[in-house]
Amino acid sequence: APQAPRTAAKPAFRREAMRIAGKPVATDEAIEVFNPYTGEVVGTVPAARPEHVREAFARAKAFKPKLSRYERQQILLRTAEILASRKHEIASLITTESGLCWKDSLYEADRAYDVYSFAGQLVIKDDGEIFSCDISPQGKARRIYTMRVPLLGVISAITPFNHPLNMVSHKLAPAIATNNRVVLKPTELTPLTALLLADILYEAGLPPEMLSVVTGNPSTMGDSMITDPDADLVTFTGSVRVGKHIAEKAGYKRLVLELGGNDPLIVMEDADLDKAAELAVQGATKNSGQRCTAVKRILVVERVADAFAEKVLAKAKTLKCGDPMDPETDVGTVINERSAELFERRVVDACEKGARLLHGNDRRGALYPPTVVDHVPYDCELVHEETFGPVIPIIRCPNDIEAVIRISNATAYGLSSGVCTNRLDYITRFISELEVGTVNVWEVPGYRIEMSPFGGIKDSGLGYKEGVVEAMKGFTNVRTYSLPWP
Ligand code: NAD
Repeated sequence: APQAPRTAAKPAFRREAMRIAGKPVATDEAIEVFNPYTGEVVGTVPAARPEHVREAFARAKAFKPKLSRYERQQILLRTAEILASRKHEIASLITTESGLCWKDSLYEADRAYDVYSFAGQLVIKDDGEIFSCDISPQGKARRIYTMRVPLLGVISAITPFNHPLNMVSHKLAPAIATNNRVVLKPTELTPLTALLLADILYEAGLPPEMLSVVTGNPSTMGDSMITDPDADLVTFTGSVRVGKHIAEKAGYKRLVLELGGNDPLIVMEDADLDKAAELAVQGATKNSGQRCTAVKRILVVERVADAFAEKVLAKAKTLKCGDPMDPETDVGTVINERSAELFERRVVDACEKGARLLHGNDRRGALYPPTVVDHVPYDCELVHEETFGPVIPIIRCPNDIEAVIRISNATAYGLSSGVCTNRLDYITRFISELEVGTVNVWEVPGYRIEMSPFGGIKDSGLGYKEGVVEAMKGFTNVRTYSLPWP
C-alpha cells in the first residue's frame, strides 16, 4: 500500500461564516487570519456585532435539549472517531493558523480525541447521592436524593489561541455531556479550527441549536459574551488581564476562569540532572512555550546549578526551530511577531539585570528559537510576568528548601508545578506548601490526563477546575428531592 503522507496538504483559503444555531451567518466586515510563519492571510471570519451575539444566545435559550445519556454518548464518541479519522487535516489547519509545529498539532488532535472519548464514557455515569434522614433524634422516615440538571440558561465560552482545538474541546465536550447549550467565541487569532470542529460536532449528530460559534473583535462584541441576559455561566480560558475584566463585568453569573501561569520546575540537589534537564527543556518549549502550564521558571539549587545548566544547554541545542509544517520541526513560531519581539526585549532586560544568555534570543519574524538564560534574577520581567514563549530561564536558589518554596510562591500566579527530587521529606513539603493547583513529581507542570481535575489558584483562577469530570459538575445544578420512606 502507498505510504500515507507525513503531513497533510496545505489547507485551502477559508472564507468562513459564523455558525448561529448551525446556520452560516456572514457580516459585512471580516477579520483576517494569518499564518504566523509565512505572513499569508489563510482565511477570514466575520466580525460579529453585539446583535449577532444576542441572536445566538436567544436561539440557544429557546431550544430545550432533550438528548438521552445514550444519545449524548453516541454524539461524543462519534466526534472522537471523526477527529481521529481526520487528524492530519485538522493538525494541518492548526499549524496553518497558529504556527504551532506539526508534532504539536498532531499531539493536540490526539488530546482532543481523549476529551470527547472520556466525556462519552463518563456521561453514562450517574453521581447522584442518597441521604437517609432517620439518622438523628430530629430524623424522619424519609430519604433525600440528588440529581444533576443542566443550567437553565446558556453557557458562554471564550477561548484562547494557544490550543485552538483542545481548549475549545474542554468547554464543548462537558457541555454536551450535560445537555447544555453553548455560545462559543473562539479567539480571533485562531478561529478556523473552532469552526471546523463545530461542523464535525453537527455531523456527529449534535442538534445545531446546542452550539453556536460567533467570531469577532473582542473590543466590539466581547462584552456581549459576558453580559448577555441568557448567559448563566461564563467559562473563560485566557489571560489574567481579560479574566479579571470578565470578573468585573459579569455580575451575578457563575464564572469559570482558567488564567495564566508562571509555573516552576524545581530541581533539588539529589535529582537525576539528565532527567531534570529533559523535563526543563520539554516543559519550556513544547507548543512553542505557549502553554498556560509551560515551565516558566526553573528553580535549581546552587549546589547542582552549573552541571544542570550545562545539560539544559546541550538539550536545547538539539531542538529544531523552523518551518512549522516540516515534520522534523520541534518548535514552530509563536503566535505573532509582536510576541516574539516582546520575549526578545525581556531577555535583553534580564541580561542587563545580571542574567547570562547561553543560547538563542535570535528572532526571525515570529520564529523565536528555544532560548536558554542562566543566573536569571527572580524579580525581572522575564520571569515575574508570564513569558508565553520558548524561553528556558534558570533561576539559581539557595541550597535550602525553605528558600526554594518561598521563591516559588513569590509570584501572583498559582497554576501548576513540577518537582525533581526523590526525597520524601522534600516531596511532602512541596505538595503541602506550594501555592498551586497541581504538584507533579518527576513530570512537567503541564502533565495531566484530560479527565483529571485541572486549574489554578491566586491569579491563575478562582479554584474551579476544568478537566472533563470537574467541568461536567461545574456545568450543572444539583437538585435534591426527598421521598417519604426510610
Ligand atoms: P487573551 O486573554 O488575550 O484572549 C483570550 C480570549 O478572550 C480570546 O478569545 C479573546 O478574543 C477574548 N477577549 C479578549 N478581550 C475580551 C473582552 N474584553 N471581552 C471578552 N472576551 C475578550 O488570551 P490569549 O492571548 O488568547 O491566550 C493566552 C493566555 O491564556 C495565557 O495567559 C495563558 O496562560 C492562558 N491560558 C490559560 C489556560 C488555563 O487553563 N489556565 C490554558 C491555556 C491558556
